[in-house]
Amino acid sequence: MEMNNSKELHLDWNFASQGFLQNWSDQMAKFQCKCGAILSNSRALNDVELIVYTDIEWDDVINSGDLIDPVTIQSPRYDVWRCNECERIYVFEENVVIKTYAVEGDT
Ligand SMILES: [Zn+2]
Repeated sequence: MEMNNSKELHLDWNFASQGFLQNWSDQMAKFQCKCGAILSNSRALNDVELIVYTDIEWDDVINSGDLIDPVTIQSPRYDVWRCNECERIYVFEENVVIKTYAVEGDT
């Protein structure tokens, strides 16, 4: 069983380099940027994931009660990652890249 799982993960990694997040587990994933850098959120705190809410979504969060438990704050609608090498921004939905933003002039 263990062997099969690790083989699947390996196959997923090949897939990941073509625009998909690879999930190692519920908590961790990695992704290859178009510039070649490997982005990972495997560290508990990282500079890759951006926590992005619209003003309206955040307003709902801060108005949800007088005492807000950070654990219960709903996750942002999209996963947003930033490459620290080229500053491209990737927006994921269901682990698939739906938008890529690159700094102007950076081709
Ligand atoms: Zn990059």
